[in-house]
Amino acid sequence: MSNVHELKYLKEKIEGLKADGVYRTLPVFDGANEAEINLNGKRVINLSSNNYLGLANNPRMKAAAIKAVEKYGVGAGAVRTIVGNMDLHEALETVLAKFKREEAVMVFQSGFNCNAGTIQAITDKGDLIISDELNHASIIDGVKLSKADKAVFKHSDMAHLEDILKEKRDQYANVLIITDGVFSMDGDIAKLPEIVALAEKYSAMTYVDDAHGSGVLGEHGRGTVDHFGLHGRVDFSIGTLSKALGVIGGYVAGSQTMKEWLSHRGRPILFSTSLPPAALGALIEGVNMLIDSDEYSIKLWDNAKYFKENLGKLGFNTGKSETPITPVIIGDEAKAMAFSKQLLENGVFVSPIVFPTVPKGTGRVRCMVTAGHTKEQLKKAVEVFEKVGKEMGLI
Ligand code: PMP
Repeated sequence: MSNVHELKYLKEKIEGLKADGVYRTLPVFDGANEAEINLNGKRVINLSSNNYLGLANNPRMKAAAIKAVEKYGVGAGAVRTIVGNMDLHEALETVLAKFKREEAVMVFQSGFNCNAGTIQAITDKGDLIISDELNHASIIDGVKLSKADKAVFKHSDMAHLEDILKEKRDQYANVLIITDGVFSMDGDIAKLPEIVALAEKYSAMTYVDDAHGSGVLGEHGRGTVDHFGLHGRVDFSIGTLSKALGVIGGYVAGSQTMKEWLSHRGRPILFSTSLPPAALGALIEGVNMLIDSDEYSIKLWDNAKYFKENLGKLGFNTGKSETPITPVIIGDEAKAMAFSKQLLENGVFVSPIVFPTVPKGTGRVRCMVTAGHTKEQLKKAVEVFEKVGKEMGLI
């Protein structure tokens, strides 16, 4: 084997990760993604998945997936613009548009490529994108793929956003302001009413990635736009189908014009095979369940409140979260990794989050409570946090 194929330069980087104490192996679990899982052969309480509403193993959605597989098989067969557009894709988009109270929805294969594909398609040379500094990686990549000019505003800093608009608005044909609805690593909610007001004042468009708000905030979990009563005032509303709905996929909700354009220029629509029938069947059922009932989001909030309050009482720093995302901020990255490891040893699985997912020096474990947890499981998890936190001198 020649030196080139040994990938020595990557091996050296991996050694660097090990030296910094941030090297990790991927955890493996068998069985469904639920409140308790078998992880690397051990039964543990799962506080790591984005399965907010506990739907990833929902019997009604499973039955719908099986029914779809029986009729449609296992694959869509092609990209949607060739022959991968089933009536199931259309049905999912119709029910999602109803749920989100928007004119039209375009479904993608994941939340990630929805952002990567949409931002690029709706902006061009001569436009400006203004993005919150803590926006998700898929937004950052989508912005990179765009030919538009870029500006970044300090996290949720409305004065800074307005400064950029004031200085630059007139130099561009179109301006697009992009924000996460709920910030994934801190759990804080975007100042959407202010952002929308600024957008209207300066004739800019707005784009909200509601991956962590859909299914969580607003009436029946309709999302951040609904939470603030901003229907009709946000141009592009993104959601994923992988978190609250527990399956896979992403979507953008907005106008029919947006949808028509994306079906011509959304590169993941044109160049990547569409979602498979099992996912579509499960998702149609799941969205209908959310339209019919708010029992899942009520349980989620109840559980999240219980858990967050109890961690706070113990003296953990849960940051500025306003949502079920519960970060426990440690600071030192190696310590955050060690904390996660010790929690796991004691039967609680919480992922460590370190650079580049969060800024250096803000290492944390991020707890994701779901509607699927029982109070007993959460009580046990709090006890383990207390024990390990005390042992490690964190509280
Ligand atoms: N946007 C945000 C804010 C996210 O947190 C994520 C998931 N990590 C995504 C988009 C991507 O979604 P998906 O996992 O469905 O690709």
